[in-house]
Amino acid sequence: MSTPDSSGLAPGAMLGILGGGQLARMLALAAADLGIRAHIFAPEPDSPAFDVAARHTVGDYEDEAALARFADAVDVVTYEFENVPAATAAFLAARTPLHPGARALAVTQDRLSEKSFIAELGLTVAPFRAVDSLADLEAAVADLGRPSILKTRRFGYDGKGQVKIAAGSDLAEAYEAIGHFSAILEGFVPFTREVSVVAARGADGAFAAFDVCENEHRDHILAFTRVPAQLSPKTGEAAIAAARRIGDALGYIGVFAVEMFVVGEGAAERVIVNEIAPRVHNSGHWTSEGAQTSQFHQHVRAVCGFPLGSAARRGRVEMENLIGVAALRWRDLLAEPGAHLHLYGKRDARPGRKMGHVTRVTPEKA
Ligand code: AMP
Repeated sequence: MSTPDSSGLAPGAMLGILGGGQLARMLALAAADLGIRAHIFAPEPDSPAFDVAARHTVGDYEDEAALARFADAVDVVTYEFENVPAATAAFLAARTPLHPGARALAVTQDRLSEKSFIAELGLTVAPFRAVDSLADLEAAVADLGRPSILKTRRFGYDGKGQVKIAAGSDLAEAYEAIGHFSAILEGFVPFTREVSVVAARGADGAFAAFDVCENEHRDHILAFTRVPAQLSPKTGEAAIAAARRIGDALGYIGVFAVEMFVVGEGAAERVIVNEIAPRVHNSGHWTSEGAQTSQFHQHVRAVCGFPLGSAARRGRVEMENLIGVAALRWRDLLAEPGAHLHLYGKRDARPGRKMGHVTRVTPEKA
């Protein structure tokens, strides 16, 4: 069991994971299924992933002594969040394999480089302009019109770091609201639905996409994912082909998600790429019970150099996020036939905090 083959590691190996939230926790659990132990590196002493990992280190991502010890103790490193500092990624990659690699991080950490990269692949994105001053913002709004959306280039998630420029919005106030950071202005996309493609790519270029899923946000946070998405087969194929293009161009290893807007109807239906997450993704949580291989198992397989599993769907699936006090329904959810409850072991059910999720799988008739 312990002899690695030429393509990668073997069961018994130690997987290093940067970040200790619920994604790292579910990765560690999947790793354990495959006989892989997890070593979590995270700054917060009460990280949810620590509860389920063989080892953990509480450390800052800038602490090179701690990172060096971590790198020595693991066989491969991955991460659960895209804002891993570039210096941390480079430091680790010099000592141990890092998957996905530094390029995926560099491209996806900055909305301007991400949008430019996607557009250069020939895929459609919302029209965008770089904004580094109020004058830039005024020119960009004159160009792209209203409504439009101002987004910081870095560190935005769940709608943070973005503001809508509506008909009456004051531009100086909007620029103030995002803290004068380097930003982009995006033309508003009149989408009919939001979807994502969660897919895996192996070191050998193998590719396996889960079925396109449809996402419903509330207060900028994912509330529900439903699969299959209501899309024509042609649009679904185009969405998966776009994700494959992105994965290939990045030389990507691991699971990633590509969030997209659907616009138009009938023959005019098409997808516009919004953003890439270089990691397992909330919109892929349905795969735990809803697909032959979960996104977490798939990611562990990919980063360890194991063969990818089948991404086939097991039925119609709904994933419901449990945000804040919604997790207090746990007893009812456990009593609900067919509901699969996942709790992340977080103590305080603060508003907006992702506490857990539920999946419901309905078999499709043959
Ligand atoms: P993001 O942080 O880019 O994922 O954006 C968060 C949410 O804001 C998206 O899921 C959309 O609902 C909305 N949004 C972002 N960009 C646009 C856009 N260009 N046009 C319309 N809605 C957008």
